[in-house]
Amino acid sequence: MSERIFLSSPHMSEEGYEQQYVQEAFDTNWIAPLGTNVNEFEKELAEKVGIKSAAALSSGTAAIHLALKAAGVEEGDIVFCSTLTFSATANPIIYQHATPVFIDSDEKTWNMDPKALEEAFQKYPEVKAVIVVHLYGLSADMDRIMEICDKHDVVVIEDAAESLGTYYKGKHTGTFGNYGVFSFNGNKIITTSGGGMLVSNNEEKVAKARFWATQSRDQARHYQHSELGFNYRMSNIVAGIGRGQLKVLNTRVEKKRYIYQFYKQKLDGLKGVKFMPWNEWDDPNFWLSSMTLTGDVRPIDIMDALEKENIESRPIWKPMHLQPYFEKYDFIGNGIAESLFENGVCLPSDTKMTDEELLRVTNIIKGLF
Ligand SMILES: *Cc1c(COP(=O)(O)O)cnc(C)c1O
Repeated sequence: MSERIFLSSPHMSEEGYEQQYVQEAFDTNWIAPLGTNVNEFEKELAEKVGIKSAAALSSGTAAIHLALKAAGVEEGDIVFCSTLTFSATANPIIYQHATPVFIDSDEKTWNMDPKALEEAFQKYPEVKAVIVVHLYGLSADMDRIMEICDKHDVVVIEDAAESLGTYYKGKHTGTFGNYGVFSFNGNKIITTSGGGMLVSNNEEKVAKARFWATQSRDQARHYQHSELGFNYRMSNIVAGIGRGQLKVLNTRVEKKRYIYQFYKQKLDGLKGVKFMPWNEWDDPNFWLSSMTLTGDVRPIDIMDALEKENIESRPIWKPMHLQPYFEKYDFIGNGIAESLFENGVCLPSDTKMTDEELLRVTNIIKGLF
């Protein structure tokens, strides 16, 4: 059988940039904890996305957790959260003993529906924070969402874990709200093997997040703690991989876009097939090419047929309000996220895929129609 084709797997630079930075860390014995790579990775990422300040952390989940803490979210507070996402968006709300209220998707963006958000504010006027997700590298409609959130004077956290390299009207996703979060998990558009970044134009808050992330050690010769601490910092080795990966981000985005266009050209027009939305204001990174099916061919047929050929694919995220763990929390919406989950499939979007492999995938899928 041919080698497995993945949905999205790590893709180190052909030039070996990552190894150079890791080697530098070895040469200077800056293996851990912090060091040049961490400082530079923070600066380079902040510059890339156009924001003042960034804190390199152990994961995107840790970044969301510290964003909620920085927003002052505490026990009993309500946090609005996109329902169509990975559980890592919502879990930190529970870590803070707060209460999530899940918001439906807009068919036009697959992301948070501004109308449902507005409705949620009617029902819950007292809200501490809103977490907006940019799914699969598609941007949410940030102008409308920010307008609503500003009107209600609420902290906005953008979960841009999947959208590094995505721009909304020319501005990078993750830089509209008070806080933005990126992930460098193994399947993301660039990876450090595992890691995350919290970004903000509020430098004081980012400095505070770094403090919490290193066990909240007060200024003192002995170990002194006046606040609860976390072990959430990124290591200098991991940051070295990140610096190397950042150099090839644009190349990865170009390839992801090529994959999307390849699929769209070959598959769009098949009965019941609809590709993920590409709005005129969106410049997506196309992290995972996805589509919905409303004809006789179901997502499971495609996933089974691909799996037989050792090719990975996956359903769209199962909405949080339908998850056994989260179903007790309120949901505002009309079943759009649910129908995307039921009808959607993510196609293999690995940047190492050749044209031949892409053609194999599209031929297998076309064979089902
Ligand atoms: C990957 C991901 C995260 C979590 O990032 P980790 O670095 O794996 O902790 C959060 N939200 C979304 C939408 C993600 O896809």
